Amino acid sequence: MNPYSRPFEPVAEHECDVLVIGGGSAGIGAAISAARHGARTVLIETTCALGGNGTSGLVPALAPYNYNQRDGQPYLRGTAWEVLERLHRAEGLYGLGMNAWWKLFDKEIAKRVFEEMVLEAGVHVRYFTFFHTVEMSGSKVSRALTVSKAGIEAWKAKLYIDASGDGDLAAAAGASVMMGDAADDRMPPTYCFTVMNVNRKQLGDPRKVNLAMKRGKEQGRLCNPNDHRGEKDIFGPDAMVFNYNHIYECDCLNADDLTRGVIEGRQIAFELLDYLKDTVPGFEQSNMATTAVLLGVRETRRIEGDYVLKADAYFDSHRHDDDIAVYDYALDLHAAKENGESQHEYYEMYYDKRTGPGEFFGIPLRCLLAKGIDNVATAGRCVSTDRPMLGSIRQLPSSIVMGQAVGTAAALALINGGAYRDVDVKLLQETLRQDGAYIP
Ligand SMILES: Cc1cc2nc3c(=O)[nH]c(=O)nc-3n(C[C@H](O)[C@H](O)[C@H](O)COP(=O)(O)OP(=O)(O)OC[C@H]3O[C@@H](n4cnc5c(N)ncnc54)[C@H](O)[C@@H]3O)c2cc1C
Repeated sequence: MNPYSRPFEPVAEHECDVLVIGGGSAGIGAAISAARHGARTVLIETTCALGGNGTSGLVPALAPYNYNQRDGQPYLRGTAWEVLERLHRAEGLYGLGMNAWWKLFDKEIAKRVFEEMVLEAGVHVRYFTFFHTVEMSGSKVSRALTVSKAGIEAWKAKLYIDASGDGDLAAAAGASVMMGDAADDRMPPTYCFTVMNVNRKQLGDPRKVNLAMKRGKEQGRLCNPNDHRGEKDIFGPDAMVFNYNHIYECDCLNADDLTRGVIEGRQIAFELLDYLKDTVPGFEQSNMATTAVLLGVRETRRIEGDYVLKADAYFDSHRHDDDIAVYDYALDLHAAKENGESQHEYYEMYYDKRTGPGEFFGIPLRCLLAKGIDNVATAGRCVSTDRPMLGSIRQLPSSIVMGQAVGTAAALALINGGAYRDVDVKLLQETLRQDGAYIP
């Protein structure tokens, strides 16, 4: 018998109270709060770092905690605020630090800070492990199956939290899924990268980079057709992180498309770097510090929950009895098509129709509960919204906040019978407030 053969059956079965799939912003928030409230919590992550898009995807900044009022009180608090304080203490914030509107942060320090927070809470973290599928017992997940170097493993939890961004677990459990718009148009991903050894003094005004990129496209030297506004951001004294290239026609649930996305993205990144070295003073000695580990995915599955949060809630500043947070970020959609016109239509229809200072909408617990599945909740990019609302809710700090809410809901459910839908919403809101959340 071959001792190295890998059977189709699980080689091990583990038990825990709460199993969280995905260690991005949402998963971190969920795992920390579940564990802090006493649940034996396991966090499964396929890469070898926490932070998801925020670290491995090199997404530049934590979006504003109060979008409509730069110096207004933060709406996103609790664990999202704690992350900010810990990053600040670890010297992991740049520019205006905690007071910045868009909070630029150091990816490597963030990875360490997230690990410290999760481990201090008592979470069992498992890297290099990919969630594959579930076994069901009626409308409940009975086991989740993962794959790693060790082979297939089974995880039996009382409650599951899908923080995979893509809704992998909820979809495998049979939850109803929404994707794109009526024509299945989806926001394109972007492959972020960091350039180092930029002579910032010589460069002067960083907007010169945007102007150079525009010129390069007009001259036909840059092939990237990207036409959204935030093409580059700055961090550190001599480095720049670029949120630059849109990869079109890329189905981010398809491994061939993801592969093409990073290969194309890397070509575009080097093409831009060569162009900047040639044409922009200050870039002569610059070089590629790193391209991202993850393709920056904006849109895949949205799980249908007990409630679908729609863009109307944004425009009407709508609140719900079961709100677990409030937020006010704009409806930030990126056009699926490779032409500036459709992007500008989106700006007109959504992004530029911003609400005003002091206006915010509520995020209800119901849009985090996978409809028809008893023991699965979601947080982050895959929660139950219509497409325009996804544009607002999908940010890094709001994902942490949603994660904190479902993690806390899971822990409270376990104290009282074990079902998400039996959680006393008032108790959940009170517990979240005690843990620093802002639910006015
Ligand atoms: C290019 C780009 C720029 C952006 N800019 C900003 C910005 O400046 N500020 C901001 O706040 N937001 C920004 N966003 C939005 C934000 O990055 C995401 O929406 C946010 O990361 C969502 O968090 P999440 O935890 O739901 O998902 P993710 O961050 O995607 O995390 C999901 C995690 O789950 C893991 N995972 C996935 N599937 C599995 C599986 N089957 N098994 C095990 N692990 C799995 C992944 O490896 C990942 O670590 C940007 C997004 C993109 C794409």
